[in-house]
Amino acid sequence: MTVRRILSIENSDDLSILRQVCTPVTLTKGHLTTLVDDMFETMDAVEGVGLAAPQVGVTQRLVVIRIPARSEKRKDGSYVELEPEQTYAMIDPVITQTSESTINATEGCLSLPGRYAHVKRLSWVTCEYRDLKGRNLRIRRATGLLARAIQHEVDHLNGVLFIDHVSDPSTIEDIRTS
Ligand code: ZN
Repeated sequence: MTVRRILSIENSDDLSILRQVCTPVTLTKGHLTTLVDDMFETMDAVEGVGLAAPQVGVTQRLVVIRIPARSEKRKDGSYVELEPEQTYAMIDPVITQTSESTINATEGCLSLPGRYAHVKRLSWVTCEYRDLKGRNLRIRRATGLLARAIQHEVDHLNGVLFIDHVSDPSTIEDIRTS
């Protein structure tokens, strides 16, 4: 496995790739498996929650998401796991159903290092995709961080970045300059 370079909006060649509308996945199984492995390794190296193929320069509709386990500390100092880690590699993901309600929360992006902003996202989404084995799968009414990650990553496949959802650019926090 290889940690790949994450494209950044700072670089104009990278930005033009990040702004492309990606095509359906046409990679052969071997190439696809390698790419997915590399994307997980690349994302884990920088402790990201999601990564879309265009962020490593491949303009095909593929995303990986890893939601960390949620645990709670008990009075005796031990931890109890409330929700296990969730890992997804989604080929040609499509959001097929959405909530009407929205939730505001802080968001960042590995291709926009150091920048954070409040982004309004749908509270829940249903997402259909294929996995590496070619199975058609569906996540029904994903909520919380998973719902946000799916929307953020599917946006990448359409050349959309989280800052596009911010109506007032002055609200974008930039910790590179502070
Ligand atoms: Zn991103």
